[in-house]
Amino acid sequence: MPASFPPLNLPTRLLHGPGPSPVAPSVLEALSKPCIGHMDPEFMRVMNEVREMLQAVFRTENEMTLACSGTGSAGAEMLMDNLVEPGDRCLIGVNGVFGGRLADKAGRAGGEVETMEIDWGLAFDQDTLIARVEELKPKLLAVVHAETSTGVHQPFDRLADAVHKHGGLLVMDCVTSFAGLPVEIDKWGVDAAYSGTQKCLSCPPGLAPVTLSERAMHKVNGRGSKVNSWYLDLTLVGNYWSGSRAYHHTAPVNMNYALHEALRLALEEGLDERFARHESAHQQLKAGLLQRGFEYASDPDHSLPMLNLVKVPDTIADEAAARKRLLNEHNLEIGGGLGALAGKCWRIGLMGHGARSENVDAILAALDSIG
Ligand SMILES: *Cc1c(COP(=O)(O)O)cnc(C)c1O
Repeated sequence: MPASFPPLNLPTRLLHGPGPSPVAPSVLEALSKPCIGHMDPEFMRVMNEVREMLQAVFRTENEMTLACSGTGSAGAEMLMDNLVEPGDRCLIGVNGVFGGRLADKAGRAGGEVETMEIDWGLAFDQDTLIARVEELKPKLLAVVHAETSTGVHQPFDRLADAVHKHGGLLVMDCVTSFAGLPVEIDKWGVDAAYSGTQKCLSCPPGLAPVTLSERAMHKVNGRGSKVNSWYLDLTLVGNYWSGSRAYHHTAPVNMNYALHEALRLALEEGLDERFARHESAHQQLKAGLLQRGFEYASDPDHSLPMLNLVKVPDTIADEAAARKRLLNEHNLEIGGGLGALAGKCWRIGLMGHGARSENVDAILAALDSIG
């Protein structure tokens, strides 16, 4: 046993896996600002501004927009726990790991879950989803907008009408797309969505932006049974973020500073400019990878810019050892495959602050050196 522990000494990594992504220096500085009371009027101002900026990035006017304490998975659980009542029929699209988790969460909340499954690496045809909705008339349809396990971009713009026609709610996982691709909550009629801070927002992990429409809050407020989770109960958390400001739990104060700064940077850059930057970094990486003989493993018509799923080249016998070399020799983190794709694919992230030409050059140079 050492008599004492030295202070942390950590390497600076190039974060190009599935998240966390590189954090902007001013976001790290925001984390180190003085911690103040969570009921301090100055902190309430921070919360108000975070909410307003979240509305701008979600492109919504939803009053119920806040940063759930916890990572993206807590946001997912908040929505499922609040929106699903025991016995509710839920339809969940599963084309990767995160769709599968949504189905699990809906089931734990008491939902009668029906999944729709297609091969990993493909996107759902919206007409097929709509046809299934017409058939099942679910109380909730949940689909992942950006499947980080497969690099697939799911079109979302035509789903809402069919779901609403039968009194259902449309739920979106936009953990990886938020602040990297257009997420049009109001225009697409999405009733509830959740994200995380450590993907395209380039903030450390720890908070989950969520937004709920009036239709979704009507469901929450009209529940016949209490939400199972006390911590994630929106009737309580909602009062803390707005309205009566009643103490519920202590918001992670400094994480909210970091999120404030990350949102501020995104809006200062301009959302459309930010989306274009992600796309251009993706195109540059894709061209470089194809030139080197890499193959993409997801449908090219539905590729995400911020998450590139490629097959591990045949020339690499031990993919985990290759990733270890990238980390040790180049300080570069890329992601391995998840679930069914483990050992077969790599996931190269270009998220937030990392979606830049010089980062792409560094990734390609590091791949060349181990090839
Ligand atoms: C990362 C991720 C999550 C989970 O978020 P955590 O912050 O790891 O809890 C959920 N869905 C998708 C699509 C993700 O990429």
